Amino acid sequence: MRSETPILRFAPSPNGRLHLGHAYSALLNADLAARMGGVCRLRIEDIDPQRSKPELIAAIVADLAWLELTYPEPVRRQSQHMGSYQTALDRLVARGLAYPCFCSRGQIRARIAAGSEIPCDPDGVPLYPGTCRTLEVGLVADRLARGEPHTWRLDMAAALREMPGPYGYCAFAEDGTSQVAAEPARWGDAVIARRDVPTSYHLSVVHDDAEEGVTHVVRGRDLEAATDLHVLLQRLLGLPVPYYRHHPLLLDSAGEKLAKSRGSQSLADLRASGVTPGAIRARLGFS
Ligand code: GLU
Repeated sequence: MRSETPILRFAPSPNGRLHLGHAYSALLNADLAARMGGVCRLRIEDIDPQRSKPELIAAIVADLAWLELTYPEPVRRQSQHMGSYQTALDRLVARGLAYPCFCSRGQIRARIAAGSEIPCDPDGVPLYPGTCRTLEVGLVADRLARGEPHTWRLDMAAALREMPGPYGYCAFAEDGTSQVAAEPARWGDAVIARRDVPTSYHLSVVHDDAEEGVTHVVRGRDLEAATDLHVLLQRLLGLPVPYYRHHPLLLDSAGEKLAKSRGSQSLADLRASGVTPGAIRARLGFS
């Protein structure tokens, strides 16, 4: 149900310490929520059982508190809602819109290497060649019954047959809103549930934005292309489409996106070196 009060969210994945790029996104969400008379929620996107660590979640909460950002309780943790994602996945499977994929990454690479030019998705990953889409039904049932590891992929062609486009969403900016066309097909048969959990970033984020009544999604431009897939999932699952705003990313001196893996300073490093929250806010353009 869409609420009258604007609801925004900051939704970090706890697989590393927060850096200035996260701080910018968190502060922008909080600032916009305040200016719109709305609220900003915190959501911990901890679906990755290997990379999400309790100590990293505690560190995120502490870093945000240090930045003087507070969030309404309860803070949603995605790892506690696997049953809801499973239900959403089951609905797509029951309608023939998702299929199990038993291919390993190596098998997909080998198959792609053997073929000719394969287009890539917006993340630069070659589109899945569809090997498991046409497996014989009985064989699929046997492999599932044997517990063979598998992901679940969206059958993009079937999805677009059931819900033909056009697709788009409303982007909001300081000077108003604009309609943006979306092309979900460029993601091909995207993985919507990983091997280890019955979901993926794409499935849980659209589920949770609806579940939490999020009206305005504000996130980095690195996720702009993902929105094309999200609007399709929203239509397939009968969920509302929020307004979107994709903010510029903070770059390091080499022009690369900030990332812990590239040695970007974490907020904890900055705090330890004596930087104040006020200085961070000022540096990022917030008062
Ligand atoms: N959890 C995602 C990340 O940390 C952000 C998801 C979103 O804002 O939609 O990159």
